[in-house]
Amino acid sequence: ATDPALAGTELFTVRSPNVLYTAEAIKSTYTYRTTKVAKTANGKYIAEPVETIYDFKTERKVGKVGLMLVGWGGNNGSTITAGIIANRDGLTWETREGKRGANYYGSVIMGSTIKLGSDAETGKDVNIPVHDILPMVHPNDLILGGWDISGMNLADAMDRAAVLEPDLKRQIKDQMRSMVPLPSVYYPDFIAANQEDRADNVLKGSKAEHVEKIRNDIRTFKANNSLDKVIVLWTANTERYADIRTGVNDTAENLLKSIDTSHDEVSPSTIFAVACIKECVPFINGSPQNTFVPGCIELAESHKSFIGGDDFKSGQTKMKSALVDFLINAGIKLTSIASYNHLGNNDGKNLNEHKTFRSKEISKSNVVDDMVEANNVLYKEGEHPDHTVVIKYMPAVGDSKRALDEYHGEIFMGGHQTISMSNICEDSLLASPLIIDLCLMTELMTRISWKAHSSSGVASKDYKGFHSVLSILSYMLKAPLTPPGTPVVNSLAKQRAAMSNIFRACVGLAPESDMTLEHKLF
Ligand code: NAD
Repeated sequence: ATDPALAGTELFTVRSPNVLYTAEAIKSTYTYRTTKVAKTANGKYIAEPVETIYDFKTERKVGKVGLMLVGWGGNNGSTITAGIIANRDGLTWETREGKRGANYYGSVIMGSTIKLGSDAETGKDVNIPVHDILPMVHPNDLILGGWDISGMNLADAMDRAAVLEPDLKRQIKDQMRSMVPLPSVYYPDFIAANQEDRADNVLKGSKAEHVEKIRNDIRTFKANNSLDKVIVLWTANTERYADIRTGVNDTAENLLKSIDTSHDEVSPSTIFAVACIKECVPFINGSPQNTFVPGCIELAESHKSFIGGDDFKSGQTKMKSALVDFLINAGIKLTSIASYNHLGNNDGKNLNEHKTFRSKEISKSNVVDDMVEANNVLYKEGEHPDHTVVIKYMPAVGDSKRALDEYHGEIFMGGHQTISMSNICEDSLLASPLIIDLCLMTELMTRISWKAHSSSGVASKDYKGFHSVLSILSYMLKAPLTPPGTPVVNSLAKQRAAMSNIFRACVGLAPESDMTLEHKLF
């Protein structure tokens, strides 16, 4: 019989007593090493290494995957759809700078690599695409669908977005024209009043009926396209925050009751989240609002359904979470961050109203907290750099967003360092690859399960899934949602390490420590 390890489509096979390949799954037994710290009475610490043994199981069959976007006809929705079609069809197009071809640049899964190990002969690093670390769906194979309060077909929506080159649009127009968003949930109070003129594709009825309609849309989409799995992702307008009120959205039970009474404080994005949770379909929120009110998180936990959010981390914040990490870890005391943005797309127009801007401001403001808190040499308890975020709507620049940042800090002996940064970028071309990453990783997480060994070495009987709140998606998200009571990690380097080391654990490989002792101990 063929060795199941070699029968799959994986790029590599791990040869280890701790890794087993069956026709259905890759199984690993993995020693997770952490350090437990206790503080002594005299203010010192005792650090104690701790080992926990886990079994991980990753199903090898990926199946046919559908991605449904809420806000499908927006800049991101139309751009990601065009991008997938262009990649699938291997298209090239003329620009004034010459021919360009479809790619997945900007996607950490599709565009970056991970070190597998060192070459047996030369000792050089062997790097593989992140996409190949475990079986994952290829973005070209995703079946796309979704909803929008604007009923415009995707070809016209792509023109409205004004993001892509004319010669590319010409080639995909016919395919895009046949794609028309499903009617969506529209509660005008949650987004800016200036969005009203595009809301011509909206559902009537009560909030409870909306939940049922969305559930039914997902089921129909799945059946019509013979899908094994659907992922739903919110890339619709930024909503205002919902008020968290006792009795309204504080528990799962109260949230469901509020939906039954069509309570005003239940937002469209929460309606989508609840519909997905009830269908056990993963729901990811790419915008900053508090879709996941406490009752919604509780509901997801009770259904063991995956949720993830909030707010794509595309340009300014991604730079911030890398730069601040670097500065503070270099021992430089950052004392202020001033961030100015102007943009001219529909997102900017919607953020022009205070209530929606406020959601973005909150999401952009907390991104350095953990890095500051971790450095108790530079910062006293509770001390923070000043941090200001300004966003202005400037129609002329369209989707090409400008982000101007000034980082100011203290260096050795009272000196100062000021870094000014100007970042100009098509917003939707940064966000679209993140949609791919979020979808691919979420799908993968639906196929990974684990069980722990007790200290006596006995594994618990049944495998279970990861926590409903997928904090492993943090790298792609500005305000990462984490399981209640667990810390938020904003540092980009740590987020990436968590992601790749969890993937490595699933194939029984040690975390990448970057020690490279083999090159240092001559
Ligand atoms: P967009 O305004 O072009 O698209 C949003 C779409 O959502 C529109 O077509 C709108 O009609 C639709 N919509 C609004 N309410 C809806 C509802 N209830 N149901 C269904 N559709 C609805 O915006 P965009 O540039 O595509 O960005 C989408 C979201 O992603 C925004 O909230 C934005 O803040 C967030 N985001 C974008 C980036 C980025 O583009 N770089 C980064 C972070 C976050």
